[in-house]
Amino acid sequence: MGTCLLCKSSEHPIRVSHVIPNAAFKRAKDNGKMMKVDVSANLNYLVQDSWSTKMLCAECEHLFNTRYEEATLNELRKARKKSAETGLLKLKTKNPQRLAAFMISLVWRAALSPHSAYKKVQLPTSAIEGYGECLLHGNRPDLLWSLSYRITAMYDSRGIFDVDAVSRIIATPCLSRLSDLTFSFVFMFEGFKFEVITSSDNHKFDQAGVIKPTKLSYKLSRQCLWTDINFGKTYRDMYALVQSN
Ligand SMILES: [Zn+2]
Repeated sequence: MGTCLLCKSSEHPIRVSHVIPNAAFKRAKDNGKMMKVDVSANLNYLVQDSWSTKMLCAECEHLFNTRYEEATLNELRKARKKSAETGLLKLKTKNPQRLAAFMISLVWRAALSPHSAYKKVQLPTSAIEGYGECLLHGNRPDLLWSLSYRITAMYDSRGIFDVDAVSRIIATPCLSRLSDLTFSFVFMFEGFKFEVITSSDNHKFDQAGVIKPTKLSYKLSRQCLWTDINFGKTYRDMYALVQSN
């Protein structure tokens, strides 16, 4: 049976769980193949699995899906669709707390996942315990807001990847150092970059797309794939690969 990593119960079978939502993988695979970008090794290849492993019971998997994922993905997809029409990237959310919780749920699940795609994402045991409680019970806003959350829209200024192609790229999560003491967990899928920053003092960073507890509307920064410090080299290599084939 095993033990569920969230509710700690061992009464129910443990299901295969996703870190990056399965809906994002489904979208990436719509055309039958998915480009995986491995930032560390600068490798680009197609993957068959969706980086899922057995971690949670059905009830907790359902809780992640319904409480955090579905509504957040809808809000992100709406923003992207609107931006294709207007060129402006405005993200509207009914619940900033849910948006932040979705992002910490990515980090929490990635830290616990034994899948090699998530090996760069690690949390101390105390943080795993604390954020697990926070996600399970939907409480501890103090803990939730002890980190900062930023969302940036990705695009390709060279026009090699259109909006649709960019939204199908899923990058291996990585760590990025922002200053001596501050770093961020970086995820990229659905055409957005998600940063969970290890500081609550978010006035030090570019404010566009920094999620605030009561703010419902965000004008996101747009960033060209090729200039991103984490992904730029990989994208350049990927382009070279595409060109040479
Ligand atoms: Zn459970």
